[in-house]
Amino acid sequence: MADIETSTPTAVSGVEIALDRVTKRYPDQSDPAVDEVSMTIPAGEIVVLVGPSGCGKTTTMRMINRLIEPTSGTVTIGGRDAAAIDADELRRGIGYSIQQAGLFPHLTVAKNIATVPGLLGWDRKRTAARTDEMLSLVGLDPDIYRDRYPRQLSGGQQQRVGVARALAADPPVLLMDEPFGAVDPITRALLQDELLRLQSELGKTIVFVTHDFGEAVKLGDRIAVLGDRSRILQYDTPAAILAAPADDTVAGFVGATATIDRLGLAVLGDLDLDRGVTAGPDTTPADLAAALRTADRSWGIVVDDAHKPLRRITTGELAHADSLTGLGTPIPATLPAEATLQDALAVLLTDRTASAVVVGTAGAYSGVVTVDTLIAHLAATETASA
Ligand code: ADP
Ligand code: MG
Repeated sequence: MADIETSTPTAVSGVEIALDRVTKRYPDQSDPAVDEVSMTIPAGEIVVLVGPSGCGKTTTMRMINRLIEPTSGTVTIGGRDAAAIDADELRRGIGYSIQQAGLFPHLTVAKNIATVPGLLGWDRKRTAARTDEMLSLVGLDPDIYRDRYPRQLSGGQQQRVGVARALAADPPVLLMDEPFGAVDPITRALLQDELLRLQSELGKTIVFVTHDFGEAVKLGDRIAVLGDRSRILQYDTPAAILAAPADDTVAGFVGATATIDRLGLAVLGDLDLDRGVTAGPDTTPADLAAALRTADRSWGIVVDDAHKPLRRITTGELAHADSLTGLGTPIPATLPAEATLQDALAVLLTDRTASAVVVGTAGAYSGVVTVDTLIAHLAATETASA
């Protein structure tokens, strides 16, 4: 039979969300909390709603899954009018993750993650398999964590479980309301990196709320900068907003980001990284020594056949060697190209190393970052905004 199954696994794709003049008036309030907001959130993208506290971010987001019913206007999800869908059915089809994770304290991690599968009537076996799969997906060992209670987890672990729960029924849409707001900065950076990795595999439509512009730049394919009553001041890619803020309010938001925070606004992949000197495992020590002399460098990086960085070798170590095998020191940690310059600074400081290795797709070597790289970036962006 020539009838061969050719379908290749592809990432589950999200669906488009459209808001059309969506308004919320709370009872006894003279002004609407959200006033005629219209925007299209493209399928498979992360769109970040960023704005000051009280501007209406949560209200806007909750009108998408009808935890809050709009006073007027239309929300369309994947082409369907949300108002015409049964509210329970709608919410089961939309993952929802909030600050403090919002886990049920009296339920185990596994039972928390199984909430929506349970409502959907999945059988025990399927639910248990899915729960373990979700725990692994968010970087928690199922054998260790499935029977724990939320209070037995760190804040960062609780947030991971919150994300696992939101993803359990494989919804096309994920709503995240300041999900990483309550964890320390280093854990937050890790969770952000995890979310980006997950999203590159899953391709959901994610609406992410934050008041932190740095977080918006790091995570967003697009950012909606919101003013009072959720008025959209600018809706564009992070790069476009940074390059040309629409008005003084947006500019203030961008500019008020402190110097050190500006390191969080750029990712390593945006920089022209120093490539240094690399050598394959079969390079002779003499050839590497010659290459280092020519480049006026005191060390080089040995990479494997797939171009993954293996070890750092200094000129001194090359002197009497007859092969590169076993020479040099292993590279302790690498930074992905999606990491921000702030992440890079954290690694440089915690590892007490002068330079950190950056890897791109499939872990391939893409260069090194040093404190000088970071200072040069700050100097360049200072000039640009002056
Ligand atoms: P954000 O998430 O941006 O901080 P919210 O959407 O929570 O903003 O709130 C927007 C505005 O609506 C605020 O002025 C807030 O006080 C008001 N608000 C929020 N929830 C309610 C409610 N249930 N009843 C009345 N007013 C509310
Ligand atoms: Mg809020």
